[in-house]
Amino acid sequence: MRVKELWEWMVQSDRAVAFTGAGVSTDSGIPDFRGKGGVYERYDPAKVFDLGYFCKDPELFYRYAREELFALMDKKPNITHYWIGSLESENRVMGVITQNIDMLHQRAGSQTVYPLHGSVEYSFCMECGKQYLWNQMRAILADHLIARCDQCKGLIKPNIVFFGEMLPQKIFEASWNLGSQCDLMLVMGSSLQVYPAAQIPLVAKERGARLVIINREETPFDSIADLVIHAPLADISAWMIGS
Ligand code: ZN
Repeated sequence: MRVKELWEWMVQSDRAVAFTGAGVSTDSGIPDFRGKGGVYERYDPAKVFDLGYFCKDPELFYRYAREELFALMDKKPNITHYWIGSLESENRVMGVITQNIDMLHQRAGSQTVYPLHGSVEYSFCMECGKQYLWNQMRAILADHLIARCDQCKGLIKPNIVFFGEMLPQKIFEASWNLGSQCDLMLVMGSSLQVYPAAQIPLVAKERGARLVIINREETPFDSIADLVIHAPLADISAWMIGS
């Protein structure tokens, strides 16, 4: 049984790392951006996450932010987030590298989290750099179509990675280091199609780690993985917590 094999490998490992994507948050009621019911069905991704478009006409992005982005903070972590959080507190994973911006790993107790694509926690004024917390942004957007800095009237941008933007360098480097050092790379809920994020499981495999992929759908890395489980993550998490 494949889940048993995963369990055994986790017992043997002393440097495991989790790498997560949208699939870990779908059980919290957050659809995959690209999937059915996802953000991309309602908003044109070529516009809403394009930095040039945002600077020229921020209203579209802020409509999305008001209706959906900051509403992510109303969602609750699910069993998979809690399982990953418990693995870290038991020193069984070194940390979690995530493509998600929803903060649910942090809220489920994970301490060492590398949000490769940023998160909704902070926003920054693009002119003066003043920082705004998500609840301040929500308050601004309750009264305004566009979030502007109260200090300099500059445009505020949430700390999430737009198309064409570099990933946050320190987070990417730390994730790369973690991936290079691990002996077990647990990919969960990621289709491994977004680069450069997807390079991290690859470097882990190249440096000798076991690569485990748990995802509903096939991924381009299934053929090089040591173990592939196509099953709902909540079932796997429940099984692992009970073992
Ligand atoms: Zn400002």
